[in-house]
Amino acid sequence: MTRIGFIGLGNMGGPMAANLARAGHAVQVFDLVPESLERAIKAGCIVAGDAREAVTGCDLAISMLPAGEHVRGLWLSEVGGQDLLGALPAGALVIDCSTIDVASARAVGAAAKARGIRFLDAPVSGGVAGAAAGTLTFIVGGESSDFEAAKPVLACMGQNLFRAGALGAGQIAKMCNNMLLAIHMAGTAEALALGVKEGLDPGVLSTIMGKSSGNNWSLERYNPWPGVMENAPASRGYEGGFMTRLMVKDLGLAMALAEHAHSAVPMGALARNLFNLHAAKGQGAKDFSSILELYRDKTDPG
Ligand code: NAD
Repeated sequence: MTRIGFIGLGNMGGPMAANLARAGHAVQVFDLVPESLERAIKAGCIVAGDAREAVTGCDLAISMLPAGEHVRGLWLSEVGGQDLLGALPAGALVIDCSTIDVASARAVGAAAKARGIRFLDAPVSGGVAGAAAGTLTFIVGGESSDFEAAKPVLACMGQNLFRAGALGAGQIAKMCNNMLLAIHMAGTAEALALGVKEGLDPGVLSTIMGKSSGNNWSLERYNPWPGVMENAPASRGYEGGFMTRLMVKDLGLAMALAEHAHSAVPMGALARNLFNLHAAKGQGAKDFSSILELYRDKTDPG
């Protein structure tokens, strides 16, 4: 049993903390939203009065927050920062599971190191369903020894644990993955819409492409055409799943990374514009596979 401080009990953090408590850990939690704290109590977590109290007495602390500014504001002593690193004992391990910009992850990691605290950037893939089921993929950056130390705790929340490389590498790998995901989802929607406009059945076309060279995860596991795949968000009005506005956020992070790396990302930039346009049309809260609606006509079947 480990005493774990956990900050950020949103769509992802709530079920992740619950899984840690279910595995027998003493999980001290905090979130700004009172309803999240009520749910955490029901899940067996110990609710703290503030973030500092949540990490007090912990050798391991986890954060799951919206963006880099929140993560820096929590751990660092910069203007408005809570300096929570200062509340941890030397040798403690901090795991930030948020999807954030690489510079913020590296800044918090460097500040932690200066205080003798270990830090891993560990963004996740697998969405809210994966968080609830404890089947997330963790994509980790940091020292190998710290990754090994974190594994037993990460295994309570996830199934696939990868070390991508040094500090920041987890965020880089996550951004590369999500940029590719956006590109093949948009491409899949485009191909399906073309076939359907020319009279093909979307299910038949999906089966054919799924056994041909156009096969990909969006087509095979997350088909964007309503009714083709029973369990996909497309078949439940694009509810649940991975929201378009979160994909827009991740693509923004990928574009910033590309600028830093002087790496050309024309497909990623186009995908970002497509998802941004879709979000601007009021679809930001829908699952990202609803990008199909940019391509299909109301008269198309399905
Ligand atoms: P969310 O907005 O539901 O949850 C974030 C939580 O952080 C909120 O409950 C908020 O109150 C809390 N918070 C913010 N600042 C805080 C502070 N200073 N102290 C305490 N609590 C604070 O977001 P989410 O969907 O849980 O996503 C969290 C992270 O995981 C994001 O970086 C997101 O990009 C990433 N992610 C999300 C998904 C997904 O499908 N939702 C999938 C993979 C990765």
